[in-house]
Parts: sequence; C-alpha cells; structure tokens
Amino acid sequence: MTNNPKTMFNNIIGQDQIKIALTGAIKRNEVGHAYLFAGPGGSGKRTIAETFARAILCTGEEEKPCGVCKSCLLTQKHHHPDLMHVVPDKGNIKIETVREMMRYFADVPRLEHNRVIIIENSSRMTVQAQNALLKSLEEPEPGHVFILTAESAGALLPTIASRCQCFKLTPLNDTQMTAFLKEKGCPSDRVPAVIEESEGLPGHACQMMEEDTHDPLRDLAVSVIDDIQKGKRSSLFDFAEKAASEDDRGIGIMKHLLRFF
Ligand SMILES: [Zn+2]
Repeated sequence: MTNNPKTMFNNIIGQDQIKIALTGAIKRNEVGHAYLFAGPGGSGKRTIAETFARAILCTGEEEKPCGVCKSCLLTQKHHHPDLMHVVPDKGNIKIETVREMMRYFADVPRLEHNRVIIIENSSRMTVQAQNALLKSLEEPEPGHVFILTAESAGALLPTIASRCQCFKLTPLNDTQMTAFLKEKGCPSDRVPAVIEESEGLPGHACQMMEEDTHDPLRDLAVSVIDDIQKGKRSSLFDFAEKAASEDDRGIGIMKHLLRFF
C-alpha cells in the first residue's frame, strides 16, 4: 500500500512556515489545544486544517498523516468518530451548535486519544457561541484540539483569538502558483491568465478552471474568436447580443473576451 499523496502535508504547495510549524509540533508530540488559520477566501485554510486534523489523528509510525492507517482512511471518508467538522452553510453558527459539539464529544467514545473539532469560517459564530467555546479553550480536555479558520484573527473575539496559535496564510507567488496549476492539470496556455486573476489564491484558481470547463459563454467566446479569424465577423454581433441578455454575468463575459484579446 502506498501513501495517498492527497492527504500529505508535502502535497500542499506554499505555506512553508506553517507546514514546518505543524509537522514539527506533530513530531515532537507537542500539539496545542487550539489553532486558528487566517487568510482570505481561497487561500487554502480548509486544506491546511483538514490535513493537520488527519495528522493529529494519524496512528502511523512515520510521516503523518500517513494516508494508510485506519484513522487516515476514516478521515478521508469523513467517518472518523473523533473528528467533527463544522461548516456554516448560511448565517451564523449558534450556541446550540457549539453545545451539540460538546455533547457529541462527551457522549461518543473515543477511537484514539485525540479528538479534533474543525470550525470553518469561525467568525460566523455568534458572540454567545464564541463565549460557549471559550470555556472549552480555557479548560481544555486532554487530547481535544480545536482548529478554527477565519478571514482574520480580528474577526473573532479577542478572548478566543488570544487562546489560539494563529497562523496567517499568504498568497502563493507565481512560481508556487505555476506548480499548483500544473498539478491540477491547467492547460499551459491558460496558466498566465489564471495566475494574474487568481491573485495567488489557489481556491480562486480552481474556481476559474472549473468555469473554464463548464461555462457555455466561454465556449461561445471561443467560437466567436474562431469565426473572426476566419473572416466571419457577424458572429461578434450575435455574441454581443447574447452577452447583453446576460445582465448578471456581464463582467464574467468581458473577462473571457479580455483573456482572448
Ligand atoms: Zn495515518
């Protein structure tokens, strides 16, 4: 059996200082009880948080997460009883959700020594919810680890942020983004435009590639450019008419055209 590269720290491009700090804490068996990963949307907070959670729960002997132990396989399937992942859908994370998390971990027996709670977009916790969480951060259960993500530490109550080890994610530089896009299979002729528009945020780059694959307006733009090159200029007027009827997506359509020109 081989390691699943998708679960490994070394498969995350960039954020070197954070990776060094987290893998060091795992190796020395010095994982703290609360972490906060801060950065803009698309910067990779969830990937770092999930990989760190896997590493904390991993029972492999060597590099963690190993990707092959029972814990790693359960976390990959999102079935690990010692990992809870809270993702606010819309609106706030209320005090009931925090109490539910605590009840779950109080009632369900542990598979291993550690337990991890990931709270994404944790600034969506209401003040009451943050205060309820604060009690757990002040008097942590042994082996319990809280991993929060937020756009910035300042978006949380200072009492919460000050009890977390805070790590700020930085945008990828062009070299890192090129490596990331290559790994994701981005066509080489698209790489410069994706780098420019995604502003070093891998999540945004993935979104752009997704739109490339599924956006019918982009396909239409490609066919118009093709027609113009063949001297069939009337296609441009058809395209303009179509674009004008898509009020909400006007900016997206203009971006497609700009990329081509
Ligand atoms: Zn493992």
